[in-house]
Amino acid sequence: MARRSLLRRDGWKRSICCYCGVGCGVKVQTKNGVVSAVRGDEDHPVNRGKLCAKGALLPDIFVEDARLLYPHVRDSKEAEARRTSWDEAIERAAGAIRRAVDEHGPDSVMMYGSGQLVTEDYYLFGKLAKGYIGTNNQDTNSRLCMASAVTAYNMTFGADAPPAGYADIEQANTFLIVGANMEACHPILFERIRARKRSARDRVKVIVVDPRATRTAEIADLHLALRPGTDVALLQSLLFEIRLSGGLDDAYLREHTTGWAQVEESLEGWSAERAVEVTGLDARDILEAARIIAHNGPMLTFWTMGANQSTSGVDKNLALINLSLATGNIGKPGAGPMSLTGQPNAMGGREQGGLATTLPGHRLVANPDHRAEIEQAWGLPPGSISERPGVTAIEMIERLERGEIKVVWVAATNPVASLPNRDRVRAAFERAETVIVQDAYHPTETTQIADVLLPAAQWSERAGTMTNSERRICLLEQVSRPPGEARPDWQIICRMAEALGYGDAFSYDGLEEIFYEYRELSRGRDMDITGISYPLLAQHRAGIQWPYPSTARSGPPEDGRRLFEDGRFHTPDGRARMHVPRLTPPADSVDDDYPFSLMTGRVKDQWHTMTRTGRSAKLMKSERQPFLELNPSDAVGLGIRDRDRVRVSSRRGEFEVTARVSQAIRPGSVFAPFHWGSLWADNGSANASASEAVDARSKQPELKFAAVRVEPVTAD
Ligand code: SF4
Repeated sequence: MARRSLLRRDGWKRSICCYCGVGCGVKVQTKNGVVSAVRGDEDHPVNRGKLCAKGALLPDIFVEDARLLYPHVRDSKEAEARRTSWDEAIERAAGAIRRAVDEHGPDSVMMYGSGQLVTEDYYLFGKLAKGYIGTNNQDTNSRLCMASAVTAYNMTFGADAPPAGYADIEQANTFLIVGANMEACHPILFERIRARKRSARDRVKVIVVDPRATRTAEIADLHLALRPGTDVALLQSLLFEIRLSGGLDDAYLREHTTGWAQVEESLEGWSAERAVEVTGLDARDILEAARIIAHNGPMLTFWTMGANQSTSGVDKNLALINLSLATGNIGKPGAGPMSLTGQPNAMGGREQGGLATTLPGHRLVANPDHRAEIEQAWGLPPGSISERPGVTAIEMIERLERGEIKVVWVAATNPVASLPNRDRVRAAFERAETVIVQDAYHPTETTQIADVLLPAAQWSERAGTMTNSERRICLLEQVSRPPGEARPDWQIICRMAEALGYGDAFSYDGLEEIFYEYRELSRGRDMDITGISYPLLAQHRAGIQWPYPSTARSGPPEDGRRLFEDGRFHTPDGRARMHVPRLTPPADSVDDDYPFSLMTGRVKDQWHTMTRTGRSAKLMKSERQPFLELNPSDAVGLGIRDRDRVRVSSRRGEFEVTARVSQAIRPGSVFAPFHWGSLWADNGSANASASEAVDARSKQPELKFAAVRVEPVTAD
């Protein structure tokens, strides 16, 4: 009753932007229960009233004819999807899962979620898969985004714990930005760095490491445009030169780390001159970067997909973390190694078991004690949670191809467009006996081939909690009504659980009860949130950063807290474990047939596969079509002029887009945005050519390196 009256009351309400991992606070205006305007929340510490265009134009995403309004089923693979009742759709989906489990075992079912889900949804998705269906085959599109960082944090700190907070930006003197186009992908954080630089021009130095001269690089004192895939060589060389120039924090290394001796040994021979051969950089630039890091004061390191999306993504992360540890840039104001998340709630999934490898409370599937703790909490007999590792995003495609996965259930994401090697992905999904898709939008490239379509509420139409890149948990209130028969994801999951016979374990009065259930599973863990409650989050709309154990209840949540200030880590001996990063080349190799390396990435005003941002005419204005950025020297050699149509082919597939000839990219490399799937551009999807090779430890695909050929498309 109270909720209905809230929805009836129009006016301004507070929420969180549903796009990137920055997690900006927004104020949402509703008229007649419909979102009519959005503006930045002046009281939110992340953005202080500012928004990028995507956030400001959020009202544009409410396009009813782009929505999935009612449940649908297809009666055969050839038939059109027809509208049906919730009862029939749920029974069709649950029946398919039951059949697959009975005939082929629980690992014939796969659940694939998204960083768009709220943490309560994530938790239930995992509880149903791992606890009740009996498979660890539950992964998420966050695998494509930051799995390498999760692995490296766990290896080094003993927990998946990003150490710094955004408040450190205003206290940092040095910014090392690696493989992150923050101006486009984390715009509000980028503005904070720019403001910090303006406020102390002489003191603040920015180093950007990126093969492209992006707009992020425009504020750099030093732009290191290295060859794609050579980050480890550069980072090892920086550490070599820092050591030589007396920039190591020897006391920190001695008292708070292990493994330095091996890392130090691995630096031998990595002088700036040698790194030049591998990275293609100028030795003077490497030396200057080393000098800045060694002597310019506290350093914040930001990185994202450019480092993570690689077959050596974990090694790049280890090298980045080593740099911070060796120079004492951790656990103090203005310092820390920070992997940024791409999505609004990738962190929530990391916390509550949203990956095939994790369980709630930063536990690991591979750890028998962790499995036993969760089994006990869920009231399950010992051994209920499988010890078999779950299937990750790319492995899902291989298992579909082999016919081992019979049912795939997708929530809030569009893998047919977003996974690399598009044609292979589509063919693999078409092999599944049943594809269940739970989404707010239709059509998408994935809903088009679904056998069961379950309409989900989106953003302002649902409630729950989300965690941003700096461990800040915020409460989203429901501020508008879902259209048609769309339902919040958690209700759909509970309804499916009931149909599968697990109703007792999924009978919740509401989201708050789900939150308290998983909150308890954090007790005593590194990310203990037992002091947080829905009323406390409602009182502190700016959010609360974890850890926040019940013992913290006495005082108000303190903002801008960083981890490891006492130099103690979540390892058995309390020391950070440094690992030697290996320098391995990308899986794909350039040769005479495929002489260029393709990087895929984002543009500022689009989001993922354009399901929402593609509906905004204003956002579409800044980039109307997909493109290929290439260097003028390469373009001349190929007979390509700016705005010519070009075909890009890899060993997997090809796409055609418009050439953008630009000095912004180094010769030998090309860049294409991945947003445009088959619904948005004819044969324009860069994912047709992208590589599905994965990092052996994190299973994150190498979306930043595919060997390609580029040719002009002639009239005939
Ligand atoms: S920076 Fe990210 S969270 Fe902030 S408004 Fe833009 S898209 Fe939304």
